[in-house]
Amino acid sequence: MKNKEFRHYAHLMVDWMADYFEQIEDYPVKAQVQPREIYNQLPAQAPIEGEAMSAIFKDFQDIILPGITHWQHPNFFAYFPANTSFPSILGEMLTATLGAQCMIWDTSPAAAELEERVMNWLRDLMGIPDNFEGVIQDTASTATLTAILSAREKATNFDSNQNGITANNLRVYCSTETHSSIEKAVKIAGLGKKNLVKIPVDDQLLMRGDALEQAIQEDINNGLHPTCIVAAIGTTGTTAIDPLQEIAAISQKYAIWLHVDAAYAGSALILPEFQWMIQGIEQVDSFVFNPHKWLLTNFDCSVYFIKDQECLLRTFEILPEYLKTTNRGIVNDYRDWGVPLGRRFRALKLWFVLRSYGVKGLQKQLRTHIDLAQELTSWIQTSTDFEILAPTSLNLVCFRYHPTPINDAATLNNINETILQHLNKTGLLYLTHTKIKGQYAIRLVIGQTFVKAHHIKHAWQQIQEIARKTITA
Ligand code: PLP
Repeated sequence: MKNKEFRHYAHLMVDWMADYFEQIEDYPVKAQVQPREIYNQLPAQAPIEGEAMSAIFKDFQDIILPGITHWQHPNFFAYFPANTSFPSILGEMLTATLGAQCMIWDTSPAAAELEERVMNWLRDLMGIPDNFEGVIQDTASTATLTAILSAREKATNFDSNQNGITANNLRVYCSTETHSSIEKAVKIAGLGKKNLVKIPVDDQLLMRGDALEQAIQEDINNGLHPTCIVAAIGTTGTTAIDPLQEIAAISQKYAIWLHVDAAYAGSALILPEFQWMIQGIEQVDSFVFNPHKWLLTNFDCSVYFIKDQECLLRTFEILPEYLKTTNRGIVNDYRDWGVPLGRRFRALKLWFVLRSYGVKGLQKQLRTHIDLAQELTSWIQTSTDFEILAPTSLNLVCFRYHPTPINDAATLNNINETILQHLNKTGLLYLTHTKIKGQYAIRLVIGQTFVKAHHIKHAWQQIQEIARKTITA
């Protein structure tokens, strides 16, 4: 492809992109295809001769698009959102064009210095103390792995890096509600799943501080080594917010690394009224949140803040001859701040978002989502046949259909599972579920960039209609 043709198709595709956002509500939110439907339409062998972009783009529209779930559809209420926004997309376009691999300062000084500046902006905005340093990772899973590896090294005085993990007693604590990425990180870090201790939660689904301390005490009495606590600020199931101050005091008392997984809810820290969520942050060692979830920035963009930068560098530093530079020690070489060597220029899209919306614009967007969630919660609370199953702490509403005559737990679970399937089959909206104390709960997250009040009103109408039809069918 020559530059002239590139320009032609780039213009055409930008027009397609703008049309896509104008027409996005015409698509089913959740892809309505069957397994293998897309695969079977694709040729068994790669093309020997190059093909025309017109043919490739046509197949994108005819074959690929029907198999896409439209995460940017305003009726996407599933999981947590993976937001984008126009400024973010523009940033991504430039990142793709530059194609810079930003592993060290020398390989693109602007990328390293913009990342440092934007991390400091975010840190200050979110009320994270200024003795923390930030770095962009691909995902929260990677950031949590980074934290657990650092905690492991600190606990073993950097011996595990040198000699392998000889200790079989490094314990990690998180609540029963925390994300599966904690368990994955514990396994990858070589600590062993058996050393992950799941602490019970209270009736609000928050980690119980007394149970945490008891588990730590028991472990110490048994000769085990408490190594890391992971507190959740916004669990995946219900956005429960663990009592950080209480947990932080325990981590201090026993000198245990404290990592905070705020993958989703962390964005809300740009709102002064949610600063209470991180009371105790001074005692925290590391903290992750994903602008790629709720801060209008394209996946992937996960922000990791760490207090002991030296510990991070000692955990990850490598220095082969080909990576030696003259600026070492004066600049940030982010390849030493996490697992991968190669790094995309992710700070650019975040910078575009922060500048284009401004703090006020982002705050307004998040507050709108939170207000809409409160409104939906009040509608559910006043309805006669639906009920709220967990507190709506931010913008995730957990509820179920519960008509008065039905009280059998298994029947209620089956009914709600069927309702969810029927709702998603309509293609009009997309929701997912969780289990809360054994009860099947429908989750509705109001965090999509383009969601407005009328989408929530329609969603609520659809939910009631389909639920009542399901029960009479
Ligand atoms: N932590 C929490 C609380 C999450 O909800 C999620 C994903 O939804 C993750 C971690 C993992 O995020 P990522 O996909 O960035 O690894």
